[in-house]
Amino acid sequence: MRKPFVAGNWKMNTDSHSSVALAEGVVSSSEKLAGHKVDVAVIPPFVYLQPVSKALSSSRVALGSQDIYFEQKGAFTGEVSAAMLKDVGCTYALCGHSERRHVIGETDELINKKVAAAIAGGLLPILCVGELIEQRKADQTAEVVMRQLKAGLEGLSDEKLPAVTIAYEPVWAIGTGLTATPEQAQEVHALIRALLADMYSTKLAEETCIQYGGSVKPGNAAELMAQSDVDGFLVGGASLKVDDFVAIIQAA
Ligand code: PEP
Repeated sequence: MRKPFVAGNWKMNTDSHSSVALAEGVVSSSEKLAGHKVDVAVIPPFVYLQPVSKALSSSRVALGSQDIYFEQKGAFTGEVSAAMLKDVGCTYALCGHSERRHVIGETDELINKKVAAAIAGGLLPILCVGELIEQRKADQTAEVVMRQLKAGLEGLSDEKLPAVTIAYEPVWAIGTGLTATPEQAQEVHALIRALLADMYSTKLAEETCIQYGGSVKPGNAAELMAQSDVDGFLVGGASLKVDDFVAIIQAA
């Protein structure tokens, strides 16, 4: 039985005051509602990880990073290692978010190194995959998602797969207000699970958490969550409002 997992990606939003206020709001509201039935994480900008970590302490809301670098230390200006993220209290690290793939230009090969580095450093990677609108229109969704998944997990052993969460995020649905229909989401989630079964085993595939992301809101979360292979959400915009984020956690 997979435990639902909802994570809020704050992207390049909030400041030192509002990041802590948002974290405190999530802690107080989500604990009352969801008890221990849903895993919850917030993913603030790097510079606010430490104050947010403090605000989350002794709660069951976990902390995640929006990115990670694969090297352990050294002359990599601007980058942040797994050890640094662990040091400030992170449990999760996003790897290959679509904005990093398509705005910053990260490759599948780089993302694969980040997934491996996260696990080696004791973090739980959330590997993001998803197709562009032109790829969906050209009927290439399955091909793109399978390529990103295979490349992102390249070299990862059976023992390490349980550390990984997959987030299916159709790029055309991120921050656009367009959401995949529950059927569209289920189709790709089932495909991802089938590929994981091929690459690993049915048991490991069945145990892997596959989140959906792309304009998830309180009004569409329940119908998406009702799909058999949707195990939770990676939420952007709606995670910046306590009430919306908590309503999504409740739906999960
Ligand atoms: C995201 O940032 O991963 C995301 C899904 O954003 P939004 O919910 O705003 O579409």
